[in-house]
Amino acid sequence: MDRHARAEAPVALTVAAAGDNPFNCEDTISPMVKTVAPSKTIEVFALTQEMKARGERVVSLCVGEPDFQPPPAVIDATITAAKEGNTKYTGISGAMDLRKAICADLKRRKNLDYVPADILVGNGAKQAVYQAVLAVVRPGDEVIIPTPYWPSYPEIVRLAGGVPVFVDTKVEEDFLLTPETLRAGLTDRTRMLIFCNPCNPTGAVHSKERCEELAAVLSEEGGKGKGVWVMSDEIYERITYDTPHVAFASIPGMFERTMTVNGFSKSHAMTGYRLGYLAATPIIVKTAATIQGQITSCASSISQAAGIAALDVSDAEMQTSFDVMRQKRDFVLKRLAEMPGLITAVPEGAFYVFPDVSSHYGKTAPDGTVIGGATDLCLYLLRVHSVAVVTGEGFGYPKGIRLSYAASMEIITEALAELEKCLVSLK
Ligand code: PMP
Repeated sequence: MDRHARAEAPVALTVAAAGDNPFNCEDTISPMVKTVAPSKTIEVFALTQEMKARGERVVSLCVGEPDFQPPPAVIDATITAAKEGNTKYTGISGAMDLRKAICADLKRRKNLDYVPADILVGNGAKQAVYQAVLAVVRPGDEVIIPTPYWPSYPEIVRLAGGVPVFVDTKVEEDFLLTPETLRAGLTDRTRMLIFCNPCNPTGAVHSKERCEELAAVLSEEGGKGKGVWVMSDEIYERITYDTPHVAFASIPGMFERTMTVNGFSKSHAMTGYRLGYLAATPIIVKTAATIQGQITSCASSISQAAGIAALDVSDAEMQTSFDVMRQKRDFVLKRLAEMPGLITAVPEGAFYVFPDVSSHYGKTAPDGTVIGGATDLCLYLLRVHSVAVVTGEGFGYPKGIRLSYAASMEIITEALAELEKCLVSLK
């Protein structure tokens, strides 16, 4: 597989049976950590590793990061920061210059009025999500997570002692969360809605109107949504196509209760810089900063300097990379439409497409393999056609598979040709 898959694959620990070695047995592991599920992508990942070890070539559409480089100004700022001694701890919440630049960026592009005290810079958006959940979710609290979901959400909620409550979105409805579904998921114990917009893995982008409808549910008099926090993960917001992205915090009545998560990994191809942020009310930011202060302290000072440069890059320069993404998306959609038995929603953002492949379940491959579900299909596709994609089971949606088009056109073309051959061969 590739860098993304490596990052998400759990480390294989050799754990001895209890009584054998007390320092290397299941019993020594904290019960809280045992509630965390290992990645469902492990089987496909393990097979990929095996094939590569045998010297076989694997074509991967698993990547979770852009295939373009960070803008040149970001690289320059990285080098300058290191050379000029910008190499010490910053304040835990992040360098003031960066927090000011984030506020200015959120004002300019999203019309949001944040001040530096509302911003916590951390080691990636993932840390921001984690700390925001820990700040407010109490043991037993329910957190609504629409499916298909980014696999870290439920595990983060569980680590906080919360209970993930999954609500479905449907391929036929472009994987958009509907007001009715949201309302049905709310109970007296609901503490938070995790809203990934644009969505990983579906690429769904909720329009302004849809966000307003969801906000109305959360504001209904006598409804169960009134005190519910919204964690709005907007890490893919720069990469959108025809539906413009609106920040959930900009919807009337939602500013106070929205925790906005964003970062530099996807927009500026800075995944390795580990730089992201949380924008929320000062009490949440202060609490999340207290947690961060005891875990990782500040984000890298060099990455923060690069982050300031990133926010200075012109929209026009950024757009050139996103235009290439759109071409790839259109190509992938065209090719998927030519294949049998797929239902595909048009992704309006991010760089993923999530076809429903379930019409092929129960079929038999030429070598006799029965395709029971998404993971079987992914394993077969990898073993026989040397193409790696991610099983929908990892995203809480077993009917689908996730293809990332943040790969070169050659790789995309080859992988899709093999996927087509594979699907056509199933009887
Ligand atoms: N949220 C979503 C939806 C993501 O897909 C990712 C990255 N895969 C993150 C957060 C984390 O991003 P970061 O690299 O900033 O930690």
